[in-house]
Amino acid sequence: MTLAIMPASFDPITLGHVDIASRAEKLFDRLVVAVFAHPRKQVLFTLEERLAMVRESLANLSRVDVVPFEGLVVNLCRQYGADVLVRGLRTVADFEYEYQQATLNRAMLPGLDVVCLYAAPEYGALSSSMVKEIVENGGDISGMVPTPVLAQVQSRSFSQAASQTPGG
Ligand code: ADP
Repeated sequence: MTLAIMPASFDPITLGHVDIASRAEKLFDRLVVAVFAHPRKQVLFTLEERLAMVRESLANLSRVDVVPFEGLVVNLCRQYGADVLVRGLRTVADFEYEYQQATLNRAMLPGLDVVCLYAAPEYGALSSSMVKEIVENGGDISGMVPTPVLAQVQSRSFSQAASQTPGG
């Protein structure tokens, strides 16, 4: 049985993430979608909120498990006995980052392979940070995040923006 792990911050999950998870589910016997508990970048949503949004968005994928994790990805791979990581590739910048990560992870866990799936053209410019920026400025993010979590992302970002407005 081939088990793969797809680690990300999902702050929030986007349709780009859903596309990669759906395609990866077809390639492997089991896919563990791992939500970083403490990403290095500042997050808008708590771990529990991000987990709930990912679970809701991937509910129709029967061979996917969604779990929280902290620490090194290689330790998570050891815990599950996984030797494949799944990542999405959008731009050349992604490639450089992924290459560096893959090389370091492989040095720590020989035998680990990273499978990168090219982003679908319609999601190639989509990132969680762009979604947050657009919605905080009143833009329309339908078509960028999964429908089940759209309202939640919109309301959180608006309340966040309001709390940052002087006097607001
Ligand atoms: P972000 O880079 O948006 O903050 P995460 O840390 O949540 O995203 O996710 C990281 C993983 O998800 C990386 O493999 C990244 O390339 C992939 N990913 C993020 N957005 C997309 C997208 N729109 N299409 C394909 N893959 C994506």
